[in-house]
Amino acid sequence: MIDPTLREIALATKGFMPPEEGDALFEAAVRAGKSVPSLNMVEVGSYCGRSTVWVGAAARACGVTLYAVDHHGGSEENQRGWEWFDDTVVDPATGRINTLPFFTETMTRSGLTDTVRAVVGDSAVLGATWAESLSFLFIDGGHGREIARADFLAWHEHVALDGVLAIHDVFTDPSAGGQAPYEEIYLPAISSGKFREVSATGSLRVLVRVR
Ligand code: SAH
Ligand code: MG
Repeated sequence: MIDPTLREIALATKGFMPPEEGDALFEAAVRAGKSVPSLNMVEVGSYCGRSTVWVGAAARACGVTLYAVDHHGGSEENQRGWEWFDDTVVDPATGRINTLPFFTETMTRSGLTDTVRAVVGDSAVLGATWAESLSFLFIDGGHGREIARADFLAWHEHVALDGVLAIHDVFTDPSAGGQAPYEEIYLPAISSGKFREVSATGSLRVLVRVR
C-alpha cells in the first residue's frame, strides 16, 4: 500500500483517478518494478499529477525514475465547453489550459521531485523515438480515437517482457464511457498476443507482457 501521507496528497489533487484504482495502479507498478528490476517507468497523461503520486511512489519504492509525459494543454474533453473543463487550470495570460504548474506543485508537495521527471510534449511523438525499455507503462492520455491509437502504437513495444501495461478508462459498455481506450488500446494489446490481462479495478486494466 502507498504511504498514507502520499495517498492523502493524491486525493487532494485535481484529476480523474478514483482512490481504489489509484491503489491498484500503485500495486501494479510495484509488481512490475519487482519483476523487471532497474527499468524505468512511463505515465502518459499526468494532468495535475494525481495519478502520478501513486505511480511515482511505486517508482521510488523500486528505485527507478518515472517519466511523466504530458503536453499539459489538456485533452479534448478538458477544453472549455466540454464535460471535464475546469477553468482554474486555464492560464489567464494565454486563455489556454496549462496544468504544468499544478503538476510541479503536486510533485514538490509529495516530495517526489527526485523520482518523477516531467517530459513535456506530444506523447506519440515522444514515444516514437523513446530509447529505453520500461518495466511499467501507464496510458491515460487523450481519449480521442486517433490519439489513443497513436499512444498504443508509439509506446507498447517499449514495455519489457514481464513488464506491465496499465490502461485507464477502459469501458466495455458504451453507456459507461468512451470506447477509445478499450477499442484502440486494450483490444489491440490483447489481440497482439503480447499482453495478458492480470487484473481489473474499475476502469483500470493491468496487462503483463508475455512475448
Ligand atoms: N492521469 C491523470 C489524468 C490525465 S487526463 C489523473 O489520473 O488524474 C489526460 C491528460 O493527457 C491531460 O493532462 C492532457 O494534457 C494529456 N494529453 C492528451 N493528449 C495528449 C497528447 N497527445 N500528448 C501529450 N499529452 C496529452
Ligand atoms: Mg483516466
